[in-house]
Amino acid sequence: MMDTLQTIGETALIKRLVGRLATGRDVVVGPGDDCAVVRAGDEDWLLTSDPIIESVHFTAEAEPSQIGHKAVARALSDIAAMGGAPRWAVVDVVAPGDTDVERLEAIYDGMAATAAAHGLSIVGGDVACGPALELHVFAVGSVPRDGAVLRSGTAPGDAIFVTGELGGSRIGTHHLTFEPRLREGQWLREGGWATAMCDISDGLSTDLRHLTEASDVGAELQIDAIPCSEAAMSADDPVTHALGDGEDFELLLTVPADRENDLLNAWSRELSVACTRIGTVTASGQVVGVDAARTHTTLSATGYDHFFGDRS
Ligand SMILES: [Mg+2]
Repeated sequence: MMDTLQTIGETALIKRLVGRLATGRDVVVGPGDDCAVVRAGDEDWLLTSDPIIESVHFTAEAEPSQIGHKAVARALSDIAAMGGAPRWAVVDVVAPGDTDVERLEAIYDGMAATAAAHGLSIVGGDVACGPALELHVFAVGSVPRDGAVLRSGTAPGDAIFVTGELGGSRIGTHHLTFEPRLREGQWLREGGWATAMCDISDGLSTDLRHLTEASDVGAELQIDAIPCSEAAMSADDPVTHALGDGEDFELLLTVPADRENDLLNAWSRELSVACTRIGTVTASGQVVGVDAARTHTTLSATGYDHFFGDRS
C-alpha cells in the first residue's frame, strides 16, 4: 500500500525527507531542532521558517493585524527557544486573486509592528497567486559562537521547567496574540541556565518527547504542577488539554538539579513571566506522568500532528 502523509504522520515524514539531504561543514546543527545553526565568522546564525495558512492556523474572520503578528511571532518563538536574538526575515505571501488588498496591508502592519518590537528587520520576500491565503516567514537570528541552547543537552536528574501557562490557546485568541519568549530565552542562555530548551508549539506531551528523544533520556512529569491557563480550565479535563493543546509558544527547558533554586530566585528578581518546575529528567527513555497519589501513567504524544490532526 502507498504511504501517504496521513498514514505516516509528521514525524516520520520529516525523518524521510531530511534523510535525503546533505549538509556542509559550516552547519553546526542540521534539521531536528527549533532552528538550524550555521556558522558565520564569530557568530552562529539560527535559521527557521514557518508557514501559516487560512483555515488551518487562522480563520477568515481573524483580526488581520493579529494574523500578521502570529506569522512573525511563531518564527520568533523558535529563535527564543535557542536563546537567540532576532535579526532578519523574508516573507512569502500566497493569496487568491480576489483577496482584499486592505486586509493584506493590515496583516503587514501587524507583521511590521511585531518585527520592530523585537529588533527583526523584514527585508524582502515574494508574492504568488494560490487557492488560500498563506504567509511563509523565513527568519534569521544569532547567538555567540557555540551559544545556541539545543534540545539535546539535558541529562538524568535535571529539573524540567515551563514558562507561562499551558493549554486552551485555540479556545480563545492566545494563538493569535501570544508573546514570543525572546527575553526569557536570551536570559536563560546568557546565564548558562538551560541544558536543553525548545518552544511548545505542538503541545507539552509532544514537545517534551522531542526534547527527551534528542537528549536520549526520559522524563517524569508532575501532573498537578502543570500550570493550566484560564482557557484550559474551562475545558472538561484541563490537564489533558494543557498536555495536548498546541500553539502555547511557551519555553520548555531543563536545568541542573543543583541550580534550580538559584534559577527560581534569579528569575523572580529579573523576569515577570511565570516559570514553573513540572518534572525531572530520568534515564528511563519513557515519559511518565505522576499525580498527587504517586500513580504513574505513561504519557503518549497527544499533541498536534499536521497530518494526523489534533489527538488531544
Ligand atoms: Mg519550535
